[in-house]
This record gives sequence, structure tokens and C-alpha cells, in this order.
Amino acid sequence: MAETENRPTNFIRQIIDRDLESGLHSSVHTRFPPEPNGFLHIGHAKSICLNFGIAEDYKGTCNLRFDDTNPEKESIDYVNAIKEDVSWLGYHWEGEVRYSSDYFDKLHGYAVELIEKGLAFVDFSSQEQIREMRGTLKAPGQHSPYRDTDAATNLAEFDKMTKGEYPEGHCCLRAKIDMASPFMCMRDPVIYRIKFANHHQTGEKWCVYPMYDFTHCISDAIEGISHSLCTLEFQDNRRLYDWVIDNISIETQPRQYEFSRLNLEYTVLSKRKLIQLVTEGFVDGWDDPRMPTIAGLRRRGYTPASIREFCSRIGVTKMDNLIEMSMLEACIRDELNEDAPRAMAVLDPIKVVIENYANTEGEILKAANHPNKPELGERELAFDGEIYIERDDFREEANKKYKRLVLGKEVRLRNAYVIKAERVEKDAEGNIQTIYCTYDADTLGKDPADGRKVKGVIHWVSAVRNNPAEIRLYDRLFKEANPGAMELAEAYNSESLVKLNGVVECSLVGKAIGEAVQFERTGYFCLDKESQQDKLVFNRTVALRDTWAKIGD
Ligand code: ATP
Ligand code: MG
Repeated sequence: MAETENRPTNFIRQIIDRDLESGLHSSVHTRFPPEPNGFLHIGHAKSICLNFGIAEDYKGTCNLRFDDTNPEKESIDYVNAIKEDVSWLGYHWEGEVRYSSDYFDKLHGYAVELIEKGLAFVDFSSQEQIREMRGTLKAPGQHSPYRDTDAATNLAEFDKMTKGEYPEGHCCLRAKIDMASPFMCMRDPVIYRIKFANHHQTGEKWCVYPMYDFTHCISDAIEGISHSLCTLEFQDNRRLYDWVIDNISIETQPRQYEFSRLNLEYTVLSKRKLIQLVTEGFVDGWDDPRMPTIAGLRRRGYTPASIREFCSRIGVTKMDNLIEMSMLEACIRDELNEDAPRAMAVLDPIKVVIENYANTEGEILKAANHPNKPELGERELAFDGEIYIERDDFREEANKKYKRLVLGKEVRLRNAYVIKAERVEKDAEGNIQTIYCTYDADTLGKDPADGRKVKGVIHWVSAVRNNPAEIRLYDRLFKEANPGAMELAEAYNSESLVKLNGVVECSLVGKAIGEAVQFERTGYFCLDKESQQDKLVFNRTVALRDTWAKIGD
């Protein structure tokens, strides 16, 4: 495959190569089948990149199909959010969006076909009884007393179910396969159940809904899917997938292949748990920047390219895995290090008065937008006799390792002058209120004339001309690397969001929501949607590379 030569391969691509070579398939058709019962998360991104990525590379097609057989848990809001996220990641689905519910008529017809062939029966046992009769991994199950009902009776009963003549839970349709199978999913699985629910696509039309295992394989076959890729927990269900396709009159023969799901440290990737985080108020909605959702990552400042890069780096295998958060962070950091313009922001400000700065109007200095990319141009920086620096960048006393501002010593202000701390003013409790400095006017863009060495460089913002900004710093959402097994409240990191009142340079006014910037020495940030004209809000996407710390420490 010429077009895939430079791609890292994986076992699924090897299967596809084989199928194309042998002539089993002449083209590749995949699908991404989310259930619209929550927002998509980074685990889904792995599946999206795999399915859409394969379609792109093999010049095939990929459908977006909503697997919507559980009306009570699903909603049109989730449908819309999922469409937005897939598009945002940069993928295009083939034709219109599909829904499993588009096929409810056909699915019903195939259920009737199975009944006619004596391969499905209506069971009036209670759910409890069905569970008890299923047996265990060690012991075979028992036949339902309804298993041998004749086809004509089953057809009549299924018809009554469909017409709403029985209440929910009164009976169900089961496939007649093998109650002694080592695969539990083959022990006469339920394929249709009664639900009097309004469906976001089909409204009140149906009161019987097909089960996932029956729906998925038939939907794949109807759409002509060549390779149906899903996660490993469906490995056993592949028997049922094939059984259904083999026993109904449908032409195409899709094949299911399983890969391992993504697990990410310090977070949860299960919609059930993510819903709980939202509804119980641990986070501020599905797009809270701490959430591992696509919407949360987007608001946090992740780009589509960084998420696709992450999916490429983690690869696709059948092995269980728990991926380090630093893998994900490295992808966005690498990208922003290249592209993000630089600016200065003081997150925890303390005032510095430069006593010998005589220019009452202040001045405008120039600074490069990117140290290695002159093509990104320059910006204007307001400099005044009063500035803010980080509280943490000053000490009254310090050893030589501390290369920031120390009383009686000098430091360089990034993009500006060298200053020397002369004295401090403290409040009644002994907290430093103001640092009084002098500056060397002959150090703009050059070293001190007499050869004095000034090692440290700190960032600053004018105290006269600046913009106030709320700075939101995020940490891991959970204190535990693998919180999935614990109660959410127990694993939750209550310090996962810290809000600071800072100041930023004026050049940041007018940035677009989500636009990235590097605040020198403090990290990569982006403007949040909650920003106001008079109070900007910035989210820290990711901290800087550790090596950056040498400038300050
Ligand atoms: P969840 O456990 O989060 O509810 P799900 O499997 O029920 O996930 P679906 O909407 O059914 O969610 O998933 C759509 C597709 O995404 C499926 O093919 C599923 O296998 C895949 N998928 C879901 N979670 C992951 C994950 N963590 N890693 C890789 N693929 C995933
Ligand atoms: Mg699912």
C-alpha cells in the first residue's frame, strides 16, 4: 500500500493489507459507532483516529453511526456534541450521519426471519428467572420452558409485543443458540425487549427495541462495513455477531476485530463515571477543562492535531494498558512550543517601584513574539516606573542557586532593563507590600557596560498599563493513578483547580477564545470562553518543559 508506507503499522492494518491483497475486499469501509449517552472522551478519540484514519489512508470511507438502541439514556444534545467533536478532530464521515434506529424496520424484519426459522422465541420468564437459568462459567445453563414454542405462536406473540399489548418486562425475544456454550453471550441471548420510551429519532413509533449485539452486526452489514473495529470487551460477542449474520438473509459479511481500550492515568474514561462527575458537581460541566472529554480538552487548549498525535503515539494493540498523563501532555507541549506566541503574565503579583525611573509617561518596548520565529513578528510592551513581578521571584535573602531578585542584588527584566532591589515595605503582619528598586538605563538589550554579570531573568508586567486576568491552573482530576476502582469522592483531587488573580500584558486583549499563548516561564495558556472585556480568563493548558525552570531556579 503505497499510501500507508510511512505510517506505523498495527495488527489491524496488517489484516486490512491481507484482505486487500487476497481480494476479499476491494476497498475499506469502517464506522465509528458512539452511543449518544454522553460526551466523547479521549478513549473515543483513539477509536475515531483508528476508524477514520484507516479510511483516509486506504482511500476508503468511514461512517458516523449513532448506536441508539437505549432511548432513555440518550439525547439529541449528545448527538450534536458528538458530531461537533468528530468534525473538530478533523474527520469527515461518509454521507449523512447514520443511526441504528434508521434500521429499526429492517431489524424487526430480521427478528421475524429468525423466529420463522425456529431460531428465536418469545420468553415470558422473568428477568430474574432468565438470569438464574443462564448458568455460570463452570455450569451450563438450562433451557427456558418457552424455548420450544412453535414458530407461529412466537410470531403472534412478537407481534403483540410490537403492538404494545404487553407491559415492559413481561416478555422478551431471545435467540435460540446454545445454553451450554462456553461463551455466555451465546446462551440464548435476549435480542429484543419492551420499552415504552420516547426515542430522540423515532419518537413514539416503537415500544420494542433491539439489543446492541443484534443491532450492531446487522447495521454493519447494511452499511457494507468491511472491518468493524471495537474494543476488547466485545471479543466473546464476536461469536454472536457472526451467528446473527450467518443466520439471516443478508449479503455482506462484515468482520469484527478487537483492540484494547485506552486507559489514562489519574482520570476515568467511562461515560457512567463522567456523567457522575457532571451531575454531582465535581466539575463544571462536560467541557470543564479538567475533564478527559474532547470538549474539555478543547477548552483546556488542546488542538485536534495534538490529540491525533497522541493517538498515533499510543498505537493500537490488544494489550491492556494504562497510559501516563505525561504522554498526552507532551503532545500539546511539543506543538505549542513550536507555534504559540510568547507573552508575559504575572500570576501572583507583587509591586515593584523603580525609584530612579524618571519617565512619568513610561515607554513602549519591543519584544519578539517567538524566540526562534522572527516571522511571527514583534509586539509592543508597556514599561513604567511601577511594575508587577511574581511574589515568588523575590527573596530578601537567598543562596547563589536562586537566580531571581534578591535584596541588594540585580536581575534582568525579560525584554527590558536590569534592576536592583534596594529595600522593601512590609505591612503590619510582616508581608512584603512593595519592593523598591533602581534600574540601569543602559541595559536595554545589552549587558551592563562595566562587565557586571547578571544571571537571572524574570518576567514582569507594567503596573500602570496592563489587564487584570483570572488565571486558572489545573492539576490532575484525581489523586489516584487508577481511580476507576474507587469512589469518585475519595479519589477526587480537591486542588485540581486553582484560580489566581493576575495581570497580563495589554497585547493579549483581542485574542480569540481558545487561542494559545505561552506565558513566559509559567506555561502554555489559552483564553477561556468565560472571559469578559474587563476581566480576561486564561486556562493553563500545560506547564512548560522542566528544562525551562533553569532560568528561574
Ligand atoms: P464508555 O465505557 O465510555 O461508556 P462505550 O464503549 O460504552 O464507552 P460507545 O459510545 O459505545 O462508548 O463507544 C463508541 C466506540 O468507541 C466503540 O467502538 C468503543 O469500543 C470505542 N471506545 C470507547 N471507549 C474507548 C476507549 N477507552 N478506548 C478506545 N476505544 C473506546
Ligand atoms: Mg458502548
